Amino acid sequence: MSSFFTQRNLTIAMFIGIGLGVALGFGAQWAQIPALFRIIDSISFLGELFLALLQMVVVPLVLFSVTTGVANLHGGREVGRKLGKTVAYFFGTSFVAVLIGIFVTNLAGPGRGLDPEVLYAQLPEDVVEAAQARQDQVALAAPQTLNEFLEVQINNLFMNPFRSLAEMNLVGVVMFSLLLGFMIMLLGEAGKPARDLFNALNKVMMKMVSIVIWFAPVGIFALSANLLSSIGPDIIAPLLKYVLTVAFGLGIQFLVVFPLIIFFICRYNPLRFVYRVKDALLLALASASSAATLPVTLRAVEEEVGVDKDSANLVVPMGATVNMNGTALYEAVAAIFVAQLIGIPMDLGTQFILFFTATLAAIGTAGIPQGGLVTMVIVFTALGIPLEFIALLIVVDRPVDHLRTMVNVCGDAVGSLFLSTSEKKFIAK
Ligand code: ASP
Repeated sequence: MSSFFTQRNLTIAMFIGIGLGVALGFGAQWAQIPALFRIIDSISFLGELFLALLQMVVVPLVLFSVTTGVANLHGGREVGRKLGKTVAYFFGTSFVAVLIGIFVTNLAGPGRGLDPEVLYAQLPEDVVEAAQARQDQVALAAPQTLNEFLEVQINNLFMNPFRSLAEMNLVGVVMFSLLLGFMIMLLGEAGKPARDLFNALNKVMMKMVSIVIWFAPVGIFALSANLLSSIGPDIIAPLLKYVLTVAFGLGIQFLVVFPLIIFFICRYNPLRFVYRVKDALLLALASASSAATLPVTLRAVEEEVGVDKDSANLVVPMGATVNMNGTALYEAVAAIFVAQLIGIPMDLGTQFILFFTATLAAIGTAGIPQGGLVTMVIVFTALGIPLEFIALLIVVDRPVDHLRTMVNVCGDAVGSLFLSTSEKKFIAK
């Protein structure tokens, strides 16, 4: 029984789900057969159910994964300094990644060019209603002063954690989780029961996600059939452009940003680095899971590159949990893409919100295949983008997932080199 639930079968099931959904949706639309529309109508609750499941798991997942990542650090004198450097590296590279994502998407405009009116005519009614409600809301919202803005941010950051959890306020959840993890770490031996509990709960949530994700093929089937039954062929070109835009952005992070860090900050040869960690990169590319790649990444940086054990053990496991440069970039591209598509204005303020939510959502992403799709809910919710559009992204998410995971893992490996060289513990192999 359990042997059926393999990653390979899931991928196959996803493809079947997408294939059937696309066929049913397009078939209904092109042939205009009323019976097909009725079928699509009657199964559309399955799509809603899948979205509801995603929303159910995402917040506890972030809470447990971030808390665990920090709680598992070992205390000691150097830990503050090392942790500071590591966190600075994680945030620095994630910010750069999101900026690249925002920049290339604004430049390439994969979702532009379609008249929203034309698009609306090609979308299901509920999606159109949600998109228009959001537009009205944007039009009504009074501009905030900087002071007001800061007040809101402070209130979000230090919100009562139960309220943060209930309202899906990720900033608050991450802040609380970081503090919680940090306190557990500070307690040392006395914190062991709490650490064990969170480790176990984290495993439980991962398990829940891995089960929920098995519902994806059915959910995707219903969502894509519903979406495509009213989507015209005009949408295909923008989708391809979207994939290319993500790939291009990831390419910049992988081929420009990381090599610059490796060369100028770590004083190491970027080509040699990539060659030495190639096993981890290839496994990431093949598995689309940073977590599954973790043991190989650890081995590669320690034994092939020469990163000291302490640095590797600090950065790589935490990185596989919270440092997802590729995912951050992808979430920014995806959000702007859909906003462009349906004509949600992305003014500077909104892009600013995107900048932070994409970074934080990536932090909360589980290092598993399509973990990023789960946290996309947060980015879309923050920007008021109808969640139904996740279905559109799912259609092309597989190739995007594999590429972004490779960038995620590379970021962890570079981070360990960064810490090792800056601590003067690096002995090149
Ligand atoms: N698959 C990615 C990873 O494991 C997460 C994501 O879906 O973005 O790193």
